Amino acid sequence: MARCTHVESVGVTELPESVDGCEDCLREGGVWLHLRICLGCGHVGCCDDSPARHASAHARSTGHPLIRSLEPGESWCWCFPDEIGLLIPGVTGSTRIPPSPMLS
Ligand SMILES: [Zn+2]
Ligand SMILES: [Zn+2]
Ligand SMILES: [Zn+2]
Repeated sequence: MARCTHVESVGVTELPESVDGCEDCLREGGVWLHLRICLGCGHVGCCDDSPARHASAHARSTGHPLIRSLEPGESWCWCFPDEIGLLIPGVTGSTRIPPSPMLS
């Protein structure tokens, strides 16, 4: 079974209390569907079903391997280089997010 060897690189162990949305979409005036946070640096980006896919673009450009979903009730993480989903119990907290601008 595939194992993720990147969990030790996690720099974000406490999720932010709230975020305003995808950092890059907010800057560029874009819209997002679902939000993901980079566990390497705390960058907030949008999912691969969003037009600009900023979370995976961030992982590609920085090499930060792990993201976690910021959607309410979701706690899964995804490792890009290993292409596996996982749970990281060391990451705590939950984040208030605004509704998706694509759905409103
Ligand atoms: Zn990994
Ligand atoms: Zn975005
Ligand atoms: Zn990052």
